Amino acid sequence: MKTFYITTAIVYPNSDPHIGFAYEQICADAIARWHRLLGEEVFFLTGSDEHGAKIAAAAKKSGKEPKEFVDEQVKKFTAIAKTLNLTHSRFIRTTDKDHEKIAKEIFQKVFEKGDIYKGSYAGLYCVGCESFLTEKDLVEGKCPIHQTAPQAIQEENYFFRLSKYEKQVLDLLENGFFEPKERVKEIVNRIAKNGLQDLSVSRPKTNVAWGIECPFDKNQTIYVWFDALLNYVSGAKTGKKDFWPADIHIIGKEISWFHCVIFPAMLLSTGLQLPKKVFAHGWLTVNGQKMSKSLGNVIDPNYLCKKYSTDVLRYLLVREIPFGQDGDFSEAALKTRNNNELANELGNLVNRTIVMIEKYCNGKIPKAKTSAELEKALNLKKIEEHMEKLELHAALSEIFAFIASCNKFINDKAPWKLKGKELEEVLFSLADSIRIISILVSPFMPSASEKINEQLGVKSGLLKDCKFNLLKAGTTIKKSEILFKKIE
Ligand SMILES: [Zn+2]
Repeated sequence: MKTFYITTAIVYPNSDPHIGFAYEQICADAIARWHRLLGEEVFFLTGSDEHGAKIAAAAKKSGKEPKEFVDEQVKKFTAIAKTLNLTHSRFIRTTDKDHEKIAKEIFQKVFEKGDIYKGSYAGLYCVGCESFLTEKDLVEGKCPIHQTAPQAIQEENYFFRLSKYEKQVLDLLENGFFEPKERVKEIVNRIAKNGLQDLSVSRPKTNVAWGIECPFDKNQTIYVWFDALLNYVSGAKTGKKDFWPADIHIIGKEISWFHCVIFPAMLLSTGLQLPKKVFAHGWLTVNGQKMSKSLGNVIDPNYLCKKYSTDVLRYLLVREIPFGQDGDFSEAALKTRNNNELANELGNLVNRTIVMIEKYCNGKIPKAKTSAELEKALNLKKIEEHMEKLELHAALSEIFAFIASCNKFINDKAPWKLKGKELEEVLFSLADSIRIISILVSPFMPSASEKINEQLGVKSGLLKDCKFNLLKAGTTIKKSEILFKKIE
């Protein structure tokens, strides 16, 4: 069986889950579910990044020990993962013992290879980024992401020979390791401008105690990013199987440098295989504004799932924003798409079809063949191509084009005016098409897909079942409540 290993970035549990977390997770979950439809064995990893100065500071602020603090925070993320209907294979925490052990072993290995050496660091550090910055990175003296002035640090620590891997990293970047392509240039330019400098990969315990202890120097802790990136390696070992290397890492664009430069260099040093691809999605704004606590526009996905539904939120986020680009979230857009696309198109198609089968066929799927007209309206190949290229929004758009064709088919054929074989052919065609639609929408709206299957009296299918005329005549349908309510 072909395997597919996908990851998201691991979250910093220093604050609560917000819509940006939901966005990355939902997109990755849709990709994971799509690969299950392809019949592959999918390993889907997410988790939390629990070490470092930022977490220690957040814990202190709330009057807790770091571990106690992250234990409580992580519960919020595992809870929202359930609410969002995410299908993780594992939620790895960087405080998990197996992870800490593997991170130490790899750090030791890089050291023994001669790629880690002792030095002293004098420079700038942004605790928000958990990253060393140079003057060139600053905008008006501040970190451009966090809008805060970095700390000036002078300390003894260990360095990783990142510079040694410059050529290999550039080769990777030129050969499709990182997508979307537009973002590759930013990284390549940054390397061209400054060259790859060796990276400080440990902190003295006196400055950062909350971290994994350096295996060859008990006065140092491993730099939080070095530790965190290795979650993808340690989390892939299930005990029975090792899924490494990843097929794809889904990340936010702000951490591209760590995933496309530092991580591959670390792996090259250890001799571990490289992941096949890193894909960076864009940033979300809310109602056109950057999300921030001070603006009070940080949206809790729990609120949206409760007020609307998880499926509606999943659909909106994937459909509204071309994957890889920046995008905007608004409840107005959610309502519009819910009403026009989910309620009027998908919900209406299912409801009308089920009602007619009940009324004209005694609630049983009639014996007939799907009309060639509808068969032609489904461009399955195009949907598959979009998913392969991670054009998730375009795949959904194509699926909904087919849904629109089915609705048009009802209007054109006006089954209420038909009788006998003609009527049966129209109703069978519709039910058979809905069965296929249910499979195709399942990665995006898993609950709606299940409800459609229940109504049609069918089991969930795989992509190979997206062939026409597989629906069994005589199957009893089961009418139930409408799939999507209109929002006023
Ligand atoms: Zn920062």
